[in-house]
Amino acid sequence: MAKRRWAKHCTAHRTDGTPCGAWSITGGSVCRSHGGAAPQTRRAAHLAYTEARIRREFEAVAARRRREWINWQAKRVATVALLLGIPVTEVREFDIWWCRVEYGVPAPAEEAPEIRPDRRFKLPPPPGRKKTTTKGATA
Ligand SMILES: [Zn+2]
Repeated sequence: MAKRRWAKHCTAHRTDGTPCGAWSITGGSVCRSHGGAAPQTRRAAHLAYTEARIRREFEAVAARRRREWINWQAKRVATVALLLGIPVTEVREFDIWWCRVEYGVPAPAEEAPEIRPDRRFKLPPPPGRKKTTTKGATA
């Protein structure tokens, strides 16, 4: 997923009392001038941003899984209704089971769509530490 801009303004105030209004650091509520450069602030902001990002991604995946499951279940019920010649509103769990035994369709409940975890749920590296590379370093 592409990085989304953390479009929030700094909540701190200048010495003359007016609000700062500069862009806050990603995940945080203050700009670099108002404490956003401090390591503990950066860590907390990174944690907040990561949590928000993962939560958003997971909710999107869960919503997709719900849609897939509803479509999958609707197809099962429609198949059974067609095979038995009954309205879809009268299909019972037993009818699905019976058609599964008698005709080999619809698919069993174990084959229902599942949430597939992927790399989007992995934590990104914390801020502040640049990757040290030994490549090109010659003694
Ligand atoms: Zn500020």
